[in-house]
Amino acid sequence: MGRKLIKNATIITVDPDIGDVLGGDILIDGAKIAEIGKSISADDAEIIDASNCIAIPGFVDTHRHTWEALLRNAGPDWSLAQYLTAVRVIMGDIYTPHDMYMGNLLGALDSLDCGTTTLFDWSHNNNSPEHADSAIQALKDSGLRGIFGYGNSNPEWNVPNDIPSNFDDIRRVRRDILSSDDALVTMATAPRGPQFTTIENTVEDFRVARELGLRISIHVGDGLWGLTKPLIDMEKHGILGEDVTYVHCNTLADEEFKLIGDSGGHTSISPEIEMQMGHGMPPALRMLDAGIRPSISSDVVTTTPCDFFNAMRHLISGTRLMVYQDAIAANKLVDPLPLSSRDALEFATIRGAAACGLDHKIGTLTPGKHADIVLVSTDYMNMIPINNPVAAVVEFANVGNIDTILVDGEIKKRDGKLVDVDFPAFRKKVEDTRDGLFARAGVPTDGSWIVKPYTEGLSEF
Ligand SMILES: [Zn+2]
Repeated sequence: MGRKLIKNATIITVDPDIGDVLGGDILIDGAKIAEIGKSISADDAEIIDASNCIAIPGFVDTHRHTWEALLRNAGPDWSLAQYLTAVRVIMGDIYTPHDMYMGNLLGALDSLDCGTTTLFDWSHNNNSPEHADSAIQALKDSGLRGIFGYGNSNPEWNVPNDIPSNFDDIRRVRRDILSSDDALVTMATAPRGPQFTTIENTVEDFRVARELGLRISIHVGDGLWGLTKPLIDMEKHGILGEDVTYVHCNTLADEEFKLIGDSGGHTSISPEIEMQMGHGMPPALRMLDAGIRPSISSDVVTTTPCDFFNAMRHLISGTRLMVYQDAIAANKLVDPLPLSSRDALEFATIRGAAACGLDHKIGTLTPGKHADIVLVSTDYMNMIPINNPVAAVVEFANVGNIDTILVDGEIKKRDGKLVDVDFPAFRKKVEDTRDGLFARAGVPTDGSWIVKPYTEGLSEF
């Protein structure tokens, strides 16, 4: 793979020991960062001029239902309950293995294009071994760093139910396809958790995951479904741990945040989706109060994009809105502001890496770590002049400003375009696949798809 030298960048390492390096260089040797500093010389290296770029670690998305990319922008006005009907009742069962492949490839390339170099694929439509195999193959073909979170089948998700997970297939994938924890695509589990199946099934899901050496991600505290105190039940059964990432958490009780913090667990906030679909109030400050520094995720693209610049801004805006509103009610000024732009960048990078168990490999720009790097160009009207590089990235940049992306030391995007992707041909395949899927579902693609809310599993219905 040889050596590459990124020259003269504004480097935001997110590594507290290194800090920001203005006008610095990054030497990459093979897959890893060899050196960060000023005026590095390496005669044999391929030079990447980053004079007008800000270098940041690639984003880490800790929760995306990647297979749903074929449903992009189908539901701009769906609540969570309408979304569940569309995905679980209408689309889930009719997805073919080919649909899974195309959805996952599109979603993974979309994430990569947006600067997400590591994606936790929260894959919860594994209706057959072929579905799982197709989803995994797409992650591998995309070229990003992927974690395949094995997350049950569509029938197992329709609640309430007590169907046990398909452990034979989980074991098969671990044994035959994703046995290595050092590969670019690795494995985790994404079980239903006690909101969507029995606590007995959840205990067994956690037991098997740990037996196979796999991390665990579950949804908790999302909307009305999250009011059942899932963490209390899990604590009683002794299954909490630092190997668990809790997704959403908006409607958890304070005592449940404390249980997550005390057990060393990780969290994932999907800022824009949660506010748009009605999951509950932004939970970042309650997490911080419990000693948890959250990660960020995009969740789904039925309603909002997977763009992490967008996600960071929604996280900050939603959180500050609550604080300002309380202050106005109390006739007080807010000082200092909670949740800085630097916090948001930390959550979007190293905290995501930690939630995926990869913080020893990625998440900061640090010599010895793998070279997952995004170069954000400042050669745009929306970026000049730069008076605060972190703010420029977090509060002002958009996906169109991304010039170059490296994953594991390899260039995946250059001059603003993904490399090795024939976009017109790929678009045709995506649209053909979408046409078949929507025709089988009997739903339109002209914006008139109306969905009734899903009410199963809600005690008040
Ligand atoms: Zn989700």
